[in-house]
Amino acid sequence: MEKCPKPDKHEYAFIGRSNVGKSSLLNAITGRKDLAKVSGSPGKTQMINHFSLTSSDKKDWYVVDLPGYGYAKRSIKQRKSWQKMIEEYIRKRENLVNLFVLIDSRHEPQDIDIHFVNSLGEWQIPFAVVFTKADKSTQREVAANIRKFLTVLQESWEDLPPHFITSATKHTGIKQLLQYIFGLNEIVKYK
Ligand code: GDP
Repeated sequence: MEKCPKPDKHEYAFIGRSNVGKSSLLNAITGRKDLAKVSGSPGKTQMINHFSLTSSDKKDWYVVDLPGYGYAKRSIKQRKSWQKMIEEYIRKRENLVNLFVLIDSRHEPQDIDIHFVNSLGEWQIPFAVVFTKADKSTQREVAANIRKFLTVLQESWEDLPPHFITSATKHTGIKQLLQYIFGLNEIVKYK
């Protein structure tokens, strides 16, 4: 936490299971091919990485690449230290405007994701769900998985979070995601 840059800009963090397509999505939304490394070996990102961006409206903001969760090859000790670091960051980072939780649209709801999203509720963290890799299944399968995911959330949530359907490969949903961020940049004051 103490190594994070000064909290002087709006900040948007991205998190999800290893291999969910986070690096590809970050590259797509920033328009940079090499910003976040697309990894052949999942679970590589273990640190909190900040990227400073300036959008065409001249607003500066941070994108934060958080380490992936649910990487089976990590030891219990590593997982605990991950949890501690992430929880501290998510709960204490004063300029964090929104957390984007990435979910692979090819799969049915996974306990680890539901559990994580429910923790965000307990901690009262504003977040949105981003379904990734939408090009990899049929629209019908993607829609069914999203419906199932939101139905599970409805068991514990009164209001559902905003959600986006994306494909980094086809650039689907990237514009909507950016518009959401630009909108929040305008309305959210954190100082
Ligand atoms: P990370 O571990 O969450 O950062 O995931 P990566 O971005 O490294 O992606 C994991 C794998 O999924 C890589 O082989 C990517 O090329 C692939 N991938 C990521 N996003 C997409 C997508 O939108 N569509 C398709 N077809 N493949 C993707």
